[in-house]
Amino acid sequence: MADTIFGKIARGEAEADRIYEDDRAVAFRDLHPQAPTHVLVIPRKPIPRLSDASEDDESLLGHLLLVANKVAKHEGLSDYRIIVNSGEGAGQTVFHLHLHVLGGRSMRWPPG
Ligand code: AMP
Repeated sequence: MADTIFGKIARGEAEADRIYEDDRAVAFRDLHPQAPTHVLVIPRKPIPRLSDASEDDESLLGHLLLVANKVAKHEGLSDYRIIVNSGEGAGQTVFHLHLHVLGGRSMRWPPG
């Protein structure tokens, strides 16, 4: 897959406002926040989009959700939204899997 800015952040080669990291995941603030809290959770493994994940990634995908929970707790959020855009038509612009963690305001449904 092509390298991306998130791949560089995962490897520590690009700056980011990091709030959590471990051996499998990194969480950092979105450059263009869409809510008072807007954090991205990425795997260190460069999976381009969710639809590229395989059975081998089952544990990693669960881990990313638990990291999102940690992020929410760190940010003092009791209610929050997790979004994964998979593919251009869904709004994905950076092709390294990421979870958006959004909170700090009320959310509308359905999302646009
Ligand atoms: P998506 O549209 O789901 O691919 O989301 C990509 C997100 O990455 C957008 O919300 C961007 O604002 C954000 N973004 C792009 N580059 C960076 C960066 N260098 N650091 C933090 N967030 C970024």
